[in-house]
Amino acid sequence: MIKRHRRLLLLSRNCRPQAKEKTMRVAIIGGGCAAAGALEILGANPKIQEIVVFEAASHWGGRAWTRKVDEAYFDMGPQFVQDPGVTISDADPTLKGTDLPETANPWLKIIKKLNTANLSNFTCLQIDPTTYYRVPDGAGGWQDVFTTNDINQVNNTIDTDFQFAATKPNLPASVTYQSGGPFAGTVHLALGSNGYGPIAESVETWQYIAADSDRQVAPAGEQPNIYVAPGIGDVVGLYMNVLTNPAEGSSCAITGNLKTKVLSIQQGSNQIKIDTENGSFYGFDFCIVTISPYALANIAFTPPLPAEKIKALKYIGLGNYKKIGIYADNIPESIKMNTEYYTIDLDGQSCWQYFRNPHFKNLLIGVASGNFARTLETMDKEQVRDRFTAVIKSRYGDVTLNITDWAVTNWANEPRIGGAYSYTIADGGPADDPFPLQARDLLQTTHQNIFFAGEADWTEAYGTIHGAYYSGQRAANALLNRL
Ligand SMILES: Cc1cc2nc3c(=O)[nH]c(=O)nc-3n(C[C@H](O)[C@H](O)[C@H](O)COP(=O)(O)OP(=O)(O)OC[C@H]3O[C@@H](n4cnc5c(N)ncnc54)[C@H](O)[C@@H]3O)c2cc1C
Repeated sequence: MIKRHRRLLLLSRNCRPQAKEKTMRVAIIGGGCAAAGALEILGANPKIQEIVVFEAASHWGGRAWTRKVDEAYFDMGPQFVQDPGVTISDADPTLKGTDLPETANPWLKIIKKLNTANLSNFTCLQIDPTTYYRVPDGAGGWQDVFTTNDINQVNNTIDTDFQFAATKPNLPASVTYQSGGPFAGTVHLALGSNGYGPIAESVETWQYIAADSDRQVAPAGEQPNIYVAPGIGDVVGLYMNVLTNPAEGSSCAITGNLKTKVLSIQQGSNQIKIDTENGSFYGFDFCIVTISPYALANIAFTPPLPAEKIKALKYIGLGNYKKIGIYADNIPESIKMNTEYYTIDLDGQSCWQYFRNPHFKNLLIGVASGNFARTLETMDKEQVRDRFTAVIKSRYGDVTLNITDWAVTNWANEPRIGGAYSYTIADGGPADDPFPLQARDLLQTTHQNIFFAGEADWTEAYGTIHGAYYSGQRAANALLNRL
């Protein structure tokens, strides 16, 4: 396998294949979910003869990345398939015998395809968790309080405010919610005015709880999220491996280059040159760039990106969503499977969410978002672990977890990503300025022979693995329409 890679790499770098008809060559920058969507379409199209994928990291999958933590697997990035579009049976966790409708989440179709080809044995659990606050019981102890009513009130307030924000797109709208819930007191809901739905990043605790539980608990008429074992990162990584190693006799030569960071992209009169940390690659007809807005700003384009696209980049930030995975054999029994818990941090203001991984009961996952996560991203990972375990200790009878392994994410400080996932920034300018709403569309507009994709560009479901995948497919189809 390695030898084959090397041969294709040399082919790409030194000599374009000589053919009577024009050989169509495409470069794809980035190797995550969006790249998978693009590669799947282009690699199967006879009009494309060669594709080279450039990925800065040493693994495929991008933000979809699964790590082993003791005997469990921990998704450092996406942890469940949202908007599955299907109800799956516990009796068929590998989906091999399940008919998936056309509208099913594309990653479920990919899981089914990989499992059916016996390349993997991914298992899916569909879970509609109950959510609780862990709050003082008034007698020196702690109790779990069912949350739905409070969450609904916050969500209704958010919905009302977003109706207003949609008419004033650039107004950093905010409302005050008089909490009657377990965290009684007046809390402030700061809303990003993106008009596309609540954002969980960079905002206040209550909004995080509301938005996050909204994501995790299936509303009436929709199906619950699906947790995948070993992990979603393994699914995306394996799929990229399969796509970059097409079967013998395939009409398209595909080379996957890991650890190859792209520095600049230059469009000449009719060809594209790509400079990487490992040297230059010549002779591409088209390029699809699938990296995050943060990483995009670090690539030099010749000719430069249009002013509107550069302006749009300033309106799409990457928010903070921090995860910690702790493996211990003495997680308190009262932290039940398939149940989500929220509790206030020891600072009395910030909020932790925590739950057992549905596939690995000894893996306790802690999650923080918004400004709290942003603060945690500035701390050492040991400090974050100690802060989270101190909260668990104080809430569950002074328990000291027997930690045998653990991992903490820090996406904000990962230079090839720059944060967890995108949100729209209101700039405080005129309230009726529609530009912030258009920014995502502007990010994906074509720049001569360069196409763009990535979760931030898929307005309908940004910040998701399926949104990223669809954006890659859209870019690939737009490219094919040019031929
Ligand atoms: C903590 C967390 C939890 C999440 N939870 C969920 C969830 O439960 N469900 C869900 O649907 N989504 C979730 N998401 C969002 C989801 O992970 C993303 O929307 C999706 O993975 C983005 O895919 P992408 O291909 O657009 O970008 P990326 O995954 O960022 O892929 C882009 C790739 O480009 C590479 N790259 C960057 N710069 C360069 C360069 N100069 N040269 C070469 N390569 C470069 C990067 O290394 C990266 O691999 C979560 C994300 C995070 C971080």
